[in-house]
Amino acid sequence: MDWVASAELRSELARLAQAGRYRARRVVEGPQGPLVCVAGRQLLNFSSNDYLGLANHPELVAALGRAAGRWGVGSGAAHLITGHSGAHQALEEALAAFTGQPRALLFSTGYMANLGVISALAGRGDNVWEDRLNHASLIDGALLSRARLRRYRHLDAADLAGRLGVDRARLIATDGVFSMDGDLAPLPALAEVADRAGVWLLVDDAHGLGVLGAHGRGSFEHWGLAPRPDRILMATLGKALGTFGAFVAGSEELIETLIQRSRTYVYTTATPPALAEATRVALAIAEREDWRRTHLHALIARFRAGAAQLGLPLAASTTPIQPLIAGSAPRALALSRHLERAGLLVAAIRPPTVPEGQARLRITLSAAHDEAAVDRLLEALGSWSGDEET
Ligand code: PMP
Repeated sequence: MDWVASAELRSELARLAQAGRYRARRVVEGPQGPLVCVAGRQLLNFSSNDYLGLANHPELVAALGRAAGRWGVGSGAAHLITGHSGAHQALEEALAAFTGQPRALLFSTGYMANLGVISALAGRGDNVWEDRLNHASLIDGALLSRARLRRYRHLDAADLAGRLGVDRARLIATDGVFSMDGDLAPLPALAEVADRAGVWLLVDDAHGLGVLGAHGRGSFEHWGLAPRPDRILMATLGKALGTFGAFVAGSEELIETLIQRSRTYVYTTATPPALAEATRVALAIAEREDWRRTHLHALIARFRAGAAQLGLPLAASTTPIQPLIAGSAPRALALSRHLERAGLLVAAIRPPTVPEGQARLRITLSAAHDEAAVDRLLEALGSWSGDEET
């Protein structure tokens, strides 16, 4: 039986490889940064979500070490038992202040936060409406909640408005910045639809927090949307803030409800308290060092101007996520390999993460890059003949 089971998996894996969909991991041999070491080679890194260049910032590294000296390593238990430390509490207060929300609640990961919020607020008989290109964790949250998952056309608030009325809608969920496309959800229009229908609006700002808005407060700040009791913000700490984890921010009543009801909050161990201390330092840097955002946006403009000159098929994105659509999965892989030979790390993203025929390079820029790095990327992209091995 064992042998038969392995054979079945082996043939499925072979099928994935043949379709160019086999996902192999790289072993990274050092910290994140503009350069990463892979298989003994230093590669220019255009694949991480370290948008502000904080993942290996010396102040964060020192804060983590210091805090481990004070709090130890493990949190020991879930938040509702004995895992909720003063470090977690202080970070929640700092996150609420930073986002201008009444309260914030830490979750272990963004994936768990989305599962936890949606399944706490929606259930059997409800409808949860989602943008077609929402992150997998928002989709999975709706599935876990046992509500009916309904999808509207990407970025299309009018499509949503036209279809919402019929059944009992409970919640609208959208990425603030779409993770594989880099485009922005039209939050004012979506908020208006949500308001008219009297349903929750959940915004996953994993890729907006720290990056968008004059103060880096994210998509809400970018669009000038004020916090309201029916608007929920979810954001992650492992991207622009350079650490790990996630939080949900909103009204006092919402947060208390999540503490009572979110299974992914209640039934899991709290993250290490020292990590919370390091994140508080990251937040202070993100708040104080505006130059990181200014520099990042200048690099985005430089990259887009250079790509336009080369006639590259970039998607329309004003964020650090700059997808270059390759089409087929083998073509995306070939382009990624070409860049790797030139000393650049840019991951190919293939179905099922993106729709069929839209495999791409997901190029991400960071405040840790300099202009020369962006120019090297453009040069390497420009030197691809397109007919190399696939
Ligand atoms: N939402 C979005 C839009 C994301 O891109 C991600 C991470 N890829 C998550 C949620 C999940 O966050 P985490 O990595 O903290 O689980």
